[in-house]
Amino acid sequence: MSRLLESYVQGRWFAAADAGKPLLSAIDGAEIARISSAGVDLAGAVDYARTVGGPALARLTFHERAAALKALGQALLAGKEEFYELSRLTGATRRDSGVDIDGGIGTLLSYASKARRELPNSTVYLDGEVERLSKQGSFVGRHIYTARRGVAVQINAFNFPVWGFLEKLAPAFIAGVPSIVKPAGQTAYLTELVFRRIVESGLLPAGSVQLVVGEARGLLDPLGGQDSVAFTGSADTAAALRAHPNVVGAGVRFTAEADSLNASVLGPDVRTGDPEFELYVTQLVTEMIVKAGQKCTAIRRAFVPAALVDDVLEAAAARLAQVVVGDPHADGVTMGALASLEQRAEVVKSIRGLTKSARIVFGDPESVQVVGACADSGAFMSPILLRGGEKTAPEPHELEAFGPVATVLDYDDTGELIEQVARGKGSLVASVVTKDLALAREIVLGLAPYHGRILVLDSEDARESTGHGSPLPVLVHGGPGRAGGGEELGGIRGVLHHMQRTAVQGTPKVLTAVGDQWVAGTDRVIGDVHPFRKNLGELKLGDTIVAGPRVVSRADIAHFAEFTGDTFYAHMDEAAAAANPLFGGIVAHGYLVVSLAAGLFVDPAPGPVLANFGVDNLRFLTPVRAQDSLTVTLTAKSITPRQSAAYGEVRWDAVVVNQKDEAVATYDVLTLVAKPEEL
Ligand code: NDP
Repeated sequence: MSRLLESYVQGRWFAAADAGKPLLSAIDGAEIARISSAGVDLAGAVDYARTVGGPALARLTFHERAAALKALGQALLAGKEEFYELSRLTGATRRDSGVDIDGGIGTLLSYASKARRELPNSTVYLDGEVERLSKQGSFVGRHIYTARRGVAVQINAFNFPVWGFLEKLAPAFIAGVPSIVKPAGQTAYLTELVFRRIVESGLLPAGSVQLVVGEARGLLDPLGGQDSVAFTGSADTAAALRAHPNVVGAGVRFTAEADSLNASVLGPDVRTGDPEFELYVTQLVTEMIVKAGQKCTAIRRAFVPAALVDDVLEAAAARLAQVVVGDPHADGVTMGALASLEQRAEVVKSIRGLTKSARIVFGDPESVQVVGACADSGAFMSPILLRGGEKTAPEPHELEAFGPVATVLDYDDTGELIEQVARGKGSLVASVVTKDLALAREIVLGLAPYHGRILVLDSEDARESTGHGSPLPVLVHGGPGRAGGGEELGGIRGVLHHMQRTAVQGTPKVLTAVGDQWVAGTDRVIGDVHPFRKNLGELKLGDTIVAGPRVVSRADIAHFAEFTGDTFYAHMDEAAAAANPLFGGIVAHGYLVVSLAAGLFVDPAPGPVLANFGVDNLRFLTPVRAQDSLTVTLTAKSITPRQSAAYGEVRWDAVVVNQKDEAVATYDVLTLVAKPEEL
């Protein structure tokens, strides 16, 4: 008998007491492993996540979590060959496995790097600017995000045993929320192997990730208002879980990614033989055969201008005839198997549904020539291309055949096209192949309300395009309506999904203390030591230097104009400047004001300030004229040590005022400041 897969719960591996159900190879039906969740303490796992995993993650900042994910991604990459070997048994070719394995690990690394760049080295994320809520400024408000105190339950489909869980785990981990991963039974042996390597790496805190293999029917029962469920799978299961009393009544945050009848549109501007025509057909065929079409993002509906339908069908059929189906290890094979015989039966059933209105123009659902394996014991099938029938027929817009299957549908004009695509009731992705910018705008804006992502493909971006079917960690992956409303990816948006946004109101001092960022209205501390003489350990929020005044002369303005070449009339030409309705006379360059301010606040001697790497939010508020005198106030606003660097970032609040105390410029100065030895 083959090995029984184990769950990893409450800090240890757990083997069920019974023999479990066999999991069969997609290639030849041989038994690979057995699976059972009998005896797994689901409530205990949830409790362990909340009481051990959550607190352990809470002790780490976003940057520390990112460092752990990065190290994990690198460790998994180093050992990925064993994952590839096992992945073949799911029916995947090497290229398919790359999407799953490298794609999954790449998502970890992408989240790690984004978190380091876009999140503070803290546990609180500040959302937007401070809102002034009172006349005198003693009462202000701002939004903060903090990690929810629950567990992120991730229920995954069979088609991506690696990427499926890593793409959900990464943003939850960065947010500081522990995960319980529940893979689909069929391919759980691969998830279990990767998970084993994760546990062995020792890189993630105890309780931050747990694995439940086998059925987990009661998994939502212990959940409550701080917990979330991210589900990928069939629409039926999604609907059943969405109706769970804890989702409906206890506020469990539930997102799903279920059926998605993704569309690909050939623009009405494209003619047969254009490079865009070739791109369209190539992409359609690629999406049919990669992962044998078992991708939530695969093209199911191919919309083509009526006059070009025959040409597209002919070109696609010619390419599909080149596809070699068989054992991914055999030479020349370009498409592997479906994940199981049951899955193949499901797809055949869906094709029968589609043929109520459409007709098959390529392939036979019941028979396929197979290289290097047996067509009966393996879950192989031919790619199937259909031509849609009556435009009113519902099937192509309702039935997701989760395999190498697509239906070509015709349209007459863009208005009708948008209505037809919308009949999918919300999808993960659509692509539009056109070289006409006006059409691209019209179609994208028409389709956008129904989609999470839209790819516009033409001969200019084709070479570098990541393709229709590839969700990217930095862009939304999820879609409205039928697609489920999930958004696992999408850069930091995916992280914030696991956090609670709270509006905090109080004095500026309170907001400074809560958000760990100095808020205007909080005391400024002016000491004997210039803040530029303090290293990252010595500097405190609110440390301030007030410098000036400095009178701006007409000669300064003329000199700056000559020196930089910025001889815009408002700085040079009395008559023209006088006629300017905003200025009514010569004014100083905004950049002169900023430069003079730097000249005032800088402490020139070598010291802990290493570099100025930019300014944010620069605004010129009041014109500066000759004889105005400028004073600048610079205050340490946020202090962020960088992981594994000898320095950190300091953001300074800068306000330049004139002799009437009117603000003439406000901005944030960004510097790199050396750490002390011990930081
Ligand atoms: P299922 O909905 O049957 O299963 C998905 C996941 O949910 C599995 O991990 C399954 O576990 C789990 N599950 C099922 N019931 C429960 C429950 N009551 N409580 C907790 N977990 C549960 O989908 P499949 O993976 O079998 O895929 C079936 C079809 O779904 C595909 O043929 C395809 O049409 C569609 N699909 C759509 C996707 C998309 O995004 N568009 C992606 C993947 C699939 P277990 O395996 O142990 O039953």
